[in-house]
Amino acid sequence: MNQQCGIQKIQKNFRVFSNMPMKQYTRFKVGGPADLLAVPRTRQELLAILTAAKKESVPVTVVGGGSNLLVSDQGIRGLVLVTTDLTSDICQKKGPDETILLTADAGERLSSVCRYTVTHGLSGLEFCAGIPGTVGGAVMMNAGTATQGIDKAVHGLDVLDLNTLVASTLKKQDLCFTYRRLFLANHLILGIDFTLTPKDPDVVRKTVAATVKHKQNTQPMSLSSAGCFFKNPDPETPAGKLIQDAGLKGESFQDAQVSTMHANYIVNRGNATCQDILTLKSRIQKAVFKRCGIMLETEVRIIGNKGKNDE
Ligand SMILES: Cc1cc2nc3c(=O)[nH]c(=O)nc-3n(C[C@H](O)[C@H](O)[C@H](O)COP(=O)(O)OP(=O)(O)OC[C@H]3O[C@@H](n4cnc5c(N)ncnc54)[C@H](O)[C@@H]3O)c2cc1C
Repeated sequence: MNQQCGIQKIQKNFRVFSNMPMKQYTRFKVGGPADLLAVPRTRQELLAILTAAKKESVPVTVVGGGSNLLVSDQGIRGLVLVTTDLTSDICQKKGPDETILLTADAGERLSSVCRYTVTHGLSGLEFCAGIPGTVGGAVMMNAGTATQGIDKAVHGLDVLDLNTLVASTLKKQDLCFTYRRLFLANHLILGIDFTLTPKDPDVVRKTVAATVKHKQNTQPMSLSSAGCFFKNPDPETPAGKLIQDAGLKGESFQDAQVSTMHANYIVNRGNATCQDILTLKSRIQKAVFKRCGIMLETEVRIIGNKGKNDE
């Protein structure tokens, strides 16, 4: 009841959408309505809406490009804060030992940052080429390949504590990254400093082009998905191989399908629901466990309210 009242107050005072289908904000094209959804364009606007949400005890969920998310069919209660408009000029300055510090706001597309590094001949993020989403999301997910993550290039972060709404700067040594994860509960990343090294722009361009081409040739980049669905149990045991060996390539439930191109992708062929994808996920986990005793863990973040039949 109180929360409903808080939601109405925020709705009245800010540029927000109510009952916005989350399928419009995820690459999977899946997800029920968010009570409220805001896409702030400045840090001031962001802070004002977060202050109101805190005052009214309205829970906040942060979403970047939505490329690693599976949102429940029941949607998300409270306020969804989309960071994609929190951008400003990407800039660079000299760092220590001949390095360059590149600064980007969290809502900047990772693809724009990669393009900038090509134009300016900066090396260190080539392996991230072709990964969709924002730089904030990429840092939060420690995005990368099976063997390297973006943490390698992170110098420091500007963050906002979502409990106190106090901003601070965290250095690399303050951060705890693991495979596909940064441990940073209840914080919003505002900006990122990367440490890069100068390199011949042609060499950077060729590496980036080869990385993108390899991704396009091996992964269903143009279909609706959230990228690799499961974490690799270890770098030598790719989840995709385990799924393929269990005979599940092309397996489907309703419109959710194990990609015929890359078995660690679940794709939405059009009208898959979150529940369809979760059903297929369970089938995959059971079949792989039965065959080799490994329980696959999800890499995709599953968020939102649970339905009656959800696990
Ligand atoms: C076709 C395809 C290919 C992909 N290939 C790869 C790949 O090769 N390697 C790889 O690692 N991933 C890959 N992914 C997954 C995804 O692109 C990455 O995880 C991406 O970095 C997520 O960024 P995002 O902005 O979309 O984050 P979202 O999906 O919006 O969010 C992911 C998580 O980060 C949090 N978050 C987002 N922004 C912020 C912020 N500013 N502050 C605090 N928390 C935040 C969210 O709350 C959520 O928990 C792929 C996805 C697709 C669809």
